[in-house]
Amino acid sequence: MLGMDELFGIDVFSKKVMKQMLSAAVYKRVEETISEGKKLDREIADEVASAMKNWAISKGATHYTHWFQPMTGITAEKHDGFISFSDGGSVIMDFSGKELIKGEPDASSFPSGGLRSTFEARGYTVWDPTSYAFVKGKILYIPTAFCAFSGEAIDKKTPLLRSMDVLSKEAVRVLKCLGVEASRVLPMVGVEQEYFLIDKEVYKKRKDLIICGRTLFGAPSPKDQQLDDHYFGMIKPRIQNFMEELNETLWRLGIPAKTEHNEVAPSQHELAPIYESCNIAADHNQLTMEIMQKVADKHNLVCLLHEKPFAGVNGSGKHNNWSLATNTGYNLLSPGHTEKENMIFYLFLSAIIKAVDEYQDLLRISVATASNDNRLGGSEAPPVIVSVFLGEELTDILDSIASDATLSERKKNVMKFGVTSIPEFVKDSTDRNRTSPFAFTGNKFEFRMLGSSNSISCTNIMLNSAVAYALAGFAEKLEKASDISACVHEIIKEEYKKHKRIIFNGNGYTEEWAKEASVRGLLNLTSTPEALPYLTNEKNVKMFLETNVLTKTEIDARYNIQLENYSKSMLIEASTMLDMAKKEYLPAISKYQKTLADSVKLKQDIGINQKNKYELSVIEKLDKLSGEIFSIILKLEKELSKVKGIEGYSKAKYICDVIKVLMNSLRENVDKAEVLCDEEAWPLPSYSTLLFSI
Ligand code: ADP
Ligand code: MG
Repeated sequence: MLGMDELFGIDVFSKKVMKQMLSAAVYKRVEETISEGKKLDREIADEVASAMKNWAISKGATHYTHWFQPMTGITAEKHDGFISFSDGGSVIMDFSGKELIKGEPDASSFPSGGLRSTFEARGYTVWDPTSYAFVKGKILYIPTAFCAFSGEAIDKKTPLLRSMDVLSKEAVRVLKCLGVEASRVLPMVGVEQEYFLIDKEVYKKRKDLIICGRTLFGAPSPKDQQLDDHYFGMIKPRIQNFMEELNETLWRLGIPAKTEHNEVAPSQHELAPIYESCNIAADHNQLTMEIMQKVADKHNLVCLLHEKPFAGVNGSGKHNNWSLATNTGYNLLSPGHTEKENMIFYLFLSAIIKAVDEYQDLLRISVATASNDNRLGGSEAPPVIVSVFLGEELTDILDSIASDATLSERKKNVMKFGVTSIPEFVKDSTDRNRTSPFAFTGNKFEFRMLGSSNSISCTNIMLNSAVAYALAGFAEKLEKASDISACVHEIIKEEYKKHKRIIFNGNGYTEEWAKEASVRGLLNLTSTPEALPYLTNEKNVKMFLETNVLTKTEIDARYNIQLENYSKSMLIEASTMLDMAKKEYLPAISKYQKTLADSVKLKQDIGINQKNKYELSVIEKLDKLSGEIFSIILKLEKELSKVKGIEGYSKAKYICDVIKVLMNSLRENVDKAEVLCDEEAWPLPSYSTLLFSI
């Protein structure tokens, strides 16, 4: 067996491999591209391509793919063989610099939100040298960005890279004013990924899980998570085996999987890797989700990445831990010890507070999907109201800066900071607030609204560009300032006063907070259709245009796609529910009534003339329920036919306001019937079976 140092990244065309396989001059150029974001010249591509191919072939690869992330939120690949004919007619394995840099996968069936029809049907892919190529199976994967022929981005990676560029540019500008030399600043991200594992045989018996990834029906299990006995509990051997294989597969691909544990709900687990630069973390999270499903399958398990596979128990989320690091390895969100470090910390903190307050709508939109709507705000995940948790102490410090007040006596360690005194803030990791959507946790922020199946790209695009935009404003002031300390102080003070409303250290799950947030004028966008129109608001368009992260057409395309995705997934769920209710549940209810009626009849036939209270009362109750189920089905069918005539926003809104309500009441009635029926008469595995199948 290989040791960890040999195993980790063994299937990655890493810097180490490149250093061995490339000439010193070419390696240096590639290295500069990776670490400093410099453009890569076309001339060196041939040498890189040839080395990459030889390395991949030595690992057993026969094909390569430009791996990309279309706006569906998952990854896409089309395989091309290295196979080629030489001039002499013999077969050779070939791969040129041109093929490495650019691909034309056609791929015209991906959603483009109307972008491509107006330009050109074909899309093309461009190599992203900042994320390493890797071999999986017999394929060399080359991470790429996906664009329309006009150059418009039709994927999630391109705007992410653009947002990282602008963030770096503005952060470097600000740091320069503070006398800090850094050539690049990178957002660093660590993603905590939650998921469920259930037995494959049980899974196969449920159409809703197969088609929609979640249960659309199901009465609660008598025991689920009431006892909190699963959270951090002992990991069962079958799950442990899965985790071991998962870790090894991830490590081979250079994904630094580190922490694993059982989560709150039965059958729920979590995996967290060590943080990496945002772009790589995004690629790695996509790979992690894919590999979790593949490895689960090998163990006769199914990995559910849906946000809410089971009603009544916790759903799955994804925490986006985010900080900013210079190329020299300095974390700008680490509270400092010197005056300079403190200035940096409070200035960047102010930029983040400003960004989150001004673009709370964008953060909300970045996690808005039909599936995440089932989870957010349900007292298991943060509310839909975006707010920032700083903790009492940091809030106190900012309050006193804003009001020019001296701090209370308990702040002993006071530090001179320009014209004012700022106490040293000591990281207090016990000051945790699990209910906050955006919490400061010592030296990073943790955004907790993401659903387990969300791509992390959207959130980070919003966060990076909004923070970059705030920093650009700061840089403008600082570049003109004669007294930097005074200017920094003024910025912190003014921004805090303006954006203080976004800070909330209390319990985000309470009714009082919703009321208080409304008084503060914070947004409370309860559903995806309610949130999405904010994307195209003037202030958002302005920010995206000025940061060069998205053009107006690209924003419109994303709006259309997100809206369409919402409607489509809801309609698939509605049709699946109708199908199950008609073909599985109603017939089962009817059959069970017959069983009971037969038993009454049998008793009478043999001369037992009792009251048959149990049988008759259940028959009657089931009759009422099946009647109700049948009429909801008819209503739902009627409403669904109306939806066909509606488009865009009105369609999504109609689905949310009308169809979803009927779906909920259909479920409610079927679940009531489930409780009355004999387990054997019920055609689908129950929640107890699903949640405790392993
Ligand atoms: P929790 O206490 O929320 O379970 P941890 O502190 O263990 O979380 O870290 C969770 C994630 O945060 C991990 O993926 C970790 O690598 C990441 N993380 C830690 N420090 C940073 C940082 N400075 N920037 C970004 N992510 C970080
Ligand atoms: Mg966390």
